[in-house]
Amino acid sequence: MDAEIIAIGSELLTPYRQDTNSLYLTEQLNQLGVEVTFKDVVGDKLEHLKQVVQTALGRADIIMLMGGLGPTEDDLTREAVSAALEAPLVRDPQQVEALQKRFAQRGLPMSDNNLKQADVIAGATVLPNRNGSAPGQWIAGTYDGREKTLLLLPGPPHELQPLFEEQCLERLRMRLPPQFIATRQLKVAMMPESQCDARIAPIYAKYPLVQTTILAHGGEIQIHLRSRAASAQAAQQRVDQLAEEIEEELDDAIFSRQGESLEQIVGYYLQMRSATLAVAESCTGGLIGERLTSVSGSSRYFAGGALVYSNEMKTKLAEVPKKLIQEHGAVSAEVALAMAEGIRKRCGATWGLAVTGIAGPTGGTPEKPVGLVYHAVSNGEASDVVERRFPGDRERVRRWASQQALDLLRRKLM
Ligand code: AMP
Ligand code: MG
Repeated sequence: MDAEIIAIGSELLTPYRQDTNSLYLTEQLNQLGVEVTFKDVVGDKLEHLKQVVQTALGRADIIMLMGGLGPTEDDLTREAVSAALEAPLVRDPQQVEALQKRFAQRGLPMSDNNLKQADVIAGATVLPNRNGSAPGQWIAGTYDGREKTLLLLPGPPHELQPLFEEQCLERLRMRLPPQFIATRQLKVAMMPESQCDARIAPIYAKYPLVQTTILAHGGEIQIHLRSRAASAQAAQQRVDQLAEEIEEELDDAIFSRQGESLEQIVGYYLQMRSATLAVAESCTGGLIGERLTSVSGSSRYFAGGALVYSNEMKTKLAEVPKKLIQEHGAVSAEVALAMAEGIRKRCGATWGLAVTGIAGPTGGTPEKPVGLVYHAVSNGEASDVVERRFPGDRERVRRWASQQALDLLRRKLM
């Protein structure tokens, strides 16, 4: 069974408000084994609402509408569903009473327009809302010969979430066939997306029952695997089997097998080896330190380091000989290596990691263009340096550089 989620409210079509309810509902539905196949955002216009409900009735089994259940003129969800289903709205005396009681308890007068919140679509079950005045509605019936479930839910997240969990979850579960969704996430660092896909497409093509999605961003490729089956075990087995084949193909280019971040994995390796790390950052301006320290418990392996933006600081804090900078320039393999080794010694760490480059958009020369970055790692005995030319703007170059540096260290630690 598939679901369609419809977010209602003209404010959701502006840059100022976002539909977050659908993210919450998608997670809940996935846990029930239900895939969300469509999401819509619609303004407060009766004709548009009616259209979108009719379309949803033609393509989804479960339709969830949220918002537009308030007392004002622009709250039209009830009216739209009533029109789409050709089922009349009936004023429910019990709901009128509940509304009157709610207002009386607060010592507030109730205006007439509040009464429309007591209008119930014929045949619907009312879902009381203990956090607001707009009750939800549950409609289960046949439409064009097919079983459909429609849910009308209040818009405010603090009303929708408890109402869904307390009154809809079990009701939905009882209507559903046994179905389970299993997911896996593999992550690859520093590989072009096209190359990654060329290598794994022949593999995932053999698994039509697993949905494979490839997402690339900032020097990282995420491979999302997802499958639905009648048992949790069958679904898991299917994604695990495909994951295994992909892992075999991509080998050590994969840094994460369960969704961990690169900084988490680097920390994990450092800890396993009882090693510590210090960083010297130039063009990344602290981004590597920021990423490493975003992981809780990183104090166990991350010593710290220095932000050595100027040549003077490279010498003062990372012990890079002045002469080396004069001879090769601050953006060079030699200086990167000296920074890594210098900061390692200064901090008394097992490993030193360093980055120096030209983030742009200014400062490039024909020999040293914008995007040129050197990444170096050293543990006193072994060292390594990687030269890269990253495309894109300043932010992208810096993000890629931090990714390359962390991946260089990861490979050394493996
Ligand atoms: P309504 O029920 O349409 O009067 O919506 C009341 C309030 O709920 C809105 O002002 C929003 O702040 C919030 N809201 C409505 N729909 C959503 C949504 N899809 N995601 C997050 N918040 C929402
Ligand atoms: Mg609204």
